[in-house]
Amino acid sequence: MQNQSPKAVTRVAKRVCFSQESPEVKNESEASSSEGPEGFIRDQEYWFVDGNLILVAQNTAFRLYMGLLLAQSSVLRQKFSSAHLSLHEGTVTRTVHLPEPPHEWRYLLRRLLPKGTGTHQTTFSLRDDFPMISALLRLSQKYNITEVTAYAIDALKAIYCNSYDAWRIHDRAVCGEGFDLGETPGILARAIVAINFARLYNIPSVLPTAFYHCACLGGAIMKGYTHQDGTPEYLASDDVARCINGIQVLTAVSADHVQLLRSHLPAYRTCKYNGACRRLWKQQVRDKLTRDWHSVLGNHAFRGLCETFPALSALCDVCKEKAEDIFEERRKKVWHDLPRMFDIATYVGKWPVNVK
Ligand SMILES: [Zn+2]
Repeated sequence: MQNQSPKAVTRVAKRVCFSQESPEVKNESEASSSEGPEGFIRDQEYWFVDGNLILVAQNTAFRLYMGLLLAQSSVLRQKFSSAHLSLHEGTVTRTVHLPEPPHEWRYLLRRLLPKGTGTHQTTFSLRDDFPMISALLRLSQKYNITEVTAYAIDALKAIYCNSYDAWRIHDRAVCGEGFDLGETPGILARAIVAINFARLYNIPSVLPTAFYHCACLGGAIMKGYTHQDGTPEYLASDDVARCINGIQVLTAVSADHVQLLRSHLPAYRTCKYNGACRRLWKQQVRDKLTRDWHSVLGNHAFRGLCETFPALSALCDVCKEKAEDIFEERRKKVWHDLPRMFDIATYVGKWPVNVK
């Protein structure tokens, strides 16, 4: 692993003490659980009435089949061997208390004890699937469940990918037109967790795009990422330094791009609207960039023309295509340079892998 901080790895590996859940998580727990007479809440999704193992995660209990779990984890096998035995509704059961929040165990159980359909997911979204992937990576590492670790690593690689076209889709969902300014920093900060896992599991292909999103955070990189249970996670200091240096390079690329946009004007001769596009361009682009180029572009280098300047969707087809070319040129340049920007080119190896 390249310049990996042992502290960062330890932080990921040992992040197992959870004290409270966010309101969002509480609602999920309450929605799928019911109060039992045992002093804990019975999980509605994983409570098999003839199960012989009661796994209590904080205040929520899952009733499960012990043999199915033991077959998949040597760590759980060891833990369960000394578990307390009791008679529960006529069945001899073992009861084990574990510190992780119930929603994380629910994610894991859906992999270990699948019910019905929906367990063979092959496409993943940064916005919707990251909490599941993060929980699977953490728990599968702690309990030594290698099949789940492999699945979660593939999912992480599918989001922080080395495919230019796929990354455009993931990035657009966070930084594209109409993105939620309040929600976006939290989603961008997921890249902090991705980088720490990439260091822990030695997954270099995850790093270029993850570092890019960290750079988009700007100074907020220092605030780290707050997990659903309120636990913070930070980058190692070496990786924070890479982000700061990368921001400088991205800003320089943005400045070049702004110059191109300011000097570009749609041609009168080829314009389908007889040159009306030039007036729109001057008004929407040149004036706006002159006043406030940084807030218009920031470091969101993968955005397109109409994502950056929505009013330019009114350009004629010819002018729009030429203007889009400027954005595509910038995106490709940034994509090619990502590993070098963040000083990880040697570690990442061949890049780009599938773009001309
Ligand atoms: Zn035109």
